[in-house]
Amino acid sequence: MMNNRKIVSARLSAAQQTLLANLIRGEVLLPSDPRFGQAAQVFNARIKAHPKAIVRARDVDDVVQTVQFCTGEGLTPSVRAGGHGVLGHAVAGDIVIDLSRWSSVTVDPGRQVARIGAGARWQDVDATAWSSGLLTPGARISHIGVAGFTLGGGEGWLSRRYGLAADNLIRAELVCADGTRVVAADHSEPGLTACLRGSGGNFGVVTALWQQLHRPPRVLLGGRLLFSGRHARQALLAYSSFMRCAPEVLSGSIAFVTCGQEPGLPASLRGQPAVAINITVMCDDESTGQKYLDPLRRLAVRPVADSVAPVAYPHLQTMLDGHNQPGYRQHSAARYLPELSGAVIDALEEAWSRRPGPRAQFSLAWQDAAVARGSSRTSVFPHRTPAWSLYMMSRWTNPADDVLHTGWIRQFKQDLAPFAEQGCYLNMDDDHSPAAVRRSFRPHHRRIAESKQHWDPANIFRHTANIPPAPEACP
Ligand SMILES: Cc1cc2nc3c(=O)[nH]c(=O)nc-3n(C[C@H](O)[C@H](O)[C@H](O)COP(=O)(O)OP(=O)(O)OC[C@H]3O[C@@H](n4cnc5c(N)ncnc54)[C@H](O)[C@@H]3O)c2cc1C
Repeated sequence: MMNNRKIVSARLSAAQQTLLANLIRGEVLLPSDPRFGQAAQVFNARIKAHPKAIVRARDVDDVVQTVQFCTGEGLTPSVRAGGHGVLGHAVAGDIVIDLSRWSSVTVDPGRQVARIGAGARWQDVDATAWSSGLLTPGARISHIGVAGFTLGGGEGWLSRRYGLAADNLIRAELVCADGTRVVAADHSEPGLTACLRGSGGNFGVVTALWQQLHRPPRVLLGGRLLFSGRHARQALLAYSSFMRCAPEVLSGSIAFVTCGQEPGLPASLRGQPAVAINITVMCDDESTGQKYLDPLRRLAVRPVADSVAPVAYPHLQTMLDGHNQPGYRQHSAARYLPELSGAVIDALEEAWSRRPGPRAQFSLAWQDAAVARGSSRTSVFPHRTPAWSLYMMSRWTNPADDVLHTGWIRQFKQDLAPFAEQGCYLNMDDDHSPAAVRRSFRPHHRRIAESKQHWDPANIFRHTANIPPAPEACP
C-alpha cells in the first residue's frame, strides 16, 4: 500500500556531500537548495519524499559514479524518468538519479528502430518517429516516461496489434549494481533482457532504450464515442461483445468518467457522468475503418458525441492528456477481469454509484491478440491471458479527502475480488507490498529473483515493485 507518511531521513554528512560533488559532473541538489523541493516532486502530489540528494546526471559516467557512491556509503539509489510512477519510487531512494533531462530520441527509419534517452517521455518519441511515418505502442498519456512505462510492461492504444512497449524493447544499456555498464539484448544477455521486459527497475539504471518501430496502414482513426451515463450498462454490454470479435487493428477502452466543461461537448453532458468509448483504428482507407464502428453507432442507445476521425499518431496520444494534468493527489489500482459477466457489471455500476468525486474514474481495455502472443521466454510480463485490463483511479486536491478516495478504491477492489485474476499490473497499482508483487509475477517470480541474485545481490535497486534476490524470495 502507499506509504503516505512524510519520510524524514538524515542528511548526507559534510564529507559525503563533498565526495559526491567531486564525483559528479552534472548537478547535485541538496535539501538546502531552493530548487530541491520541486525536483523531488513527482506527478502524484500525494508523494512527499525527502531524499538526501538528487543527482542530475550529465552522462553515463555520472550514473556509474552515483551507483558506486551509493554502494560505498550503504545508501540506496532510486531512478527517475518521467516521474509518473504511482507510488513515487522514483524519489524514494537516499539518492535520486534524475534522468528526466535525457530526452533525446533518434530514429533509424531504415531499420525502424528508435534510440531513446532514458528520461524521454512518450511525446518525444511519438513526434520523432511519426516524422518518418513510424510509431510504436506507448502510453495513453503523452507525458508518461518511456523508461518506467516500458520496463514495467506498458499497455498502450496499439498493444493489441503491436504488443506491449516491453515487447518492443530490443536493446537497453544499463548501469548495474556494481557500477558496470551492460548492453542487454536477446543475443548478448537474454536472461537479463527478458527481466527488463516487465520487472521494472529491479536490475539497474537503464541509460538508453531501443524500441522497435512499425509502419502502420495508411489511415489512423482516433476519437471517442460518448454516451450518457444513464446508458452506461447498455454501452458496456455492447462494447464487451464488440471487442471480443474486433480485429486487432481496432483498439481502445471504455471509461466511466465525469465530463468537464470542454468546448464542443454537448450541453447535456457538461459536468455529468458519461461513458466514453475511446477508439483507435488502423486501416487502409477511412471508410473501411469507420465501418468497423457501425455496431457501436447503431445501438438502440445512440452516442451523444462522436469525434472519431483521421488523426496523426502524436495527436492521438494526447487524447487523454487534458484529464491527466499533474498537481493532483492520486490513488489507483488495476485488475484483470477475464470476462464482463452480469455480476461484474453490477459490481462496476455499484462502485460507480459510490464515486467520491468528479475525478474518480475507471476504464477497461481488452487485451488479447499481440499482448497474448507475447513470449514468456523473452519477457517476464506475467499477464498474457486475454482479459479486460481494469484501471481504477481517483484524483483530488485536499489532503483531508485522502481517506474518502483511497477507501473508494479499496472497496472497489474488494467488490471485484471474486471476479478478478490473481495479481495485477503493478505499473498501474498502488500496492507493491511483497505479497502483491509475488502474486503479480506468479509465473516468473523465481526466475526474476534468481537473476536478481546475479545482478543485484544486495538489492540496492529496491525502489520499484521489488523482487528481492533469490535466497530471500524463495522460502
Ligand atoms: C495518469 C496515468 C496514466 C497511466 N496510464 C498508463 C497506461 O495507459 N498504460 C500503462 O501501461 N501504464 C500507465 N500508467 C502507469 C505508468 O506506466 C507507470 O506509472 C510508469 O512507471 C511511469 O513511468 P515514468 O518513467 O513516467 O515514471 P518514474 O516514476 O520516473 O519511474 C517509475 C519507476 O520505473 C523505474 N524506472 C524509471 N526509469 C528507469 C530507468 N531509467 N532505469 C531503471 N528503472 C527505471 C523505477 O523503478 C521508477 O521508480 C499510467 C500512470 C499514470 C499516472
